[in-house]
Amino acid sequence: MLLRPLLLFILFCVIAKLFWRFIEGVVRGASSPPPGAARRGTPVPVKMQPCPVCGTYVVPGKAISTVSGGTSLHFCSEKCRSEQPSR
Ligand SMILES: [Zn+2]
Repeated sequence: MLLRPLLLFILFCVIAKLFWRFIEGVVRGASSPPPGAARRGTPVPVKMQPCPVCGTYVVPGKAISTVSGGTSLHFCSEKCRSEQPSR
């Protein structure tokens, strides 16, 4: 009986076609991303915070931060933190 190998061959062809279409879609998606993801590569600007003592703008991640009264304060240096305004 020769029908069984033929059916397997057709099945293989269909799977190969679907697989190729999937690969093609992946390649196309990688080469031209959707408009929503276009800005993913650009760095997000860091929101800088002014030092409450001298007014120097500092990056919160690198500043000396203290939390007082529920709000976080970012000081530019240890000196400013020691001179922080009393509530
Ligand atoms: Zn300061």
